[in-house]
Amino acid sequence: MAEFARESDNKVNDYYLSVGSNLPIAERSPAAVLEAALEEFSATGLLAQGSVEIVSVSEIYRTPAWPAGHGPDYANQAWHIRSDHSPQVLLDRLHALEARFERSRERRWGARTLDLDIVLAVDSQGRSPVLPDRETVLRWMKLPRTEQMRCTPDRLILPHPRLHERGFVLVPLVEIAPDPVHPILGRRMVELLHALPPGETKAIRPWYAGPAS
Ligand code: ATP
Ligand code: CA
Ligand code: CA
Repeated sequence: MAEFARESDNKVNDYYLSVGSNLPIAERSPAAVLEAALEEFSATGLLAQGSVEIVSVSEIYRTPAWPAGHGPDYANQAWHIRSDHSPQVLLDRLHALEARFERSRERRWGARTLDLDIVLAVDSQGRSPVLPDRETVLRWMKLPRTEQMRCTPDRLILPHPRLHERGFVLVPLVEIAPDPVHPILGRRMVELLHALPPGETKAIRPWYAGPAS
């Protein structure tokens, strides 16, 4: 098994995660997969050698597959955690957790059992790291859709370059964290949500309210 990257320091960060699933595993629905992933995430085994506190978790939302036609509806949720893992170590842990939930990557944005993205980090001084650097993040943010479909980043990008465009990320996130400010756009999460075109959020509803009629 690959070794996890080393901690470079033990600064505590707040991390905001966007979590999604649109494929069941055995008898478990996508929403049940998210619930099981959260339970496993908080279990000590996977997260040994560092502290992780789950601060809050949004409700689970049902959102149409994105891009349209890419499989069944998604269960989406936001997790707010606090950890002394560096962003890269945390991402390694999240990938390990995805693997335990049978995640495979056959095609870009294809259906998946579990997707765990770090969308934003905030340090103890209230600053959000921009990784690997502002120029690279801006390049990913401005990438045309056709290029996004073809290219996958081979390293951690923070904030997540599509955070500000996605209703399925912002609706759950704003429920638990309306106030963090996007370090490049200079706007709060709730402002980013309100700036979305209505079509981006109109089909999003609580998972347990049942499928759209
Ligand atoms: P998207 O990133 O557009 O939501 P995706 O989640 O389907 O697409 P994945 O195949 O899960 O894409 O991830 C592709 C790569 O993105 C991973 O190898 C991962 O290392 C990298 N990556 C870069 N930045 C992040 C981030 N902030 N959170 C999660 N993965 C990231
Ligand atoms: Ca994703
Ligand atoms: Ca991902």
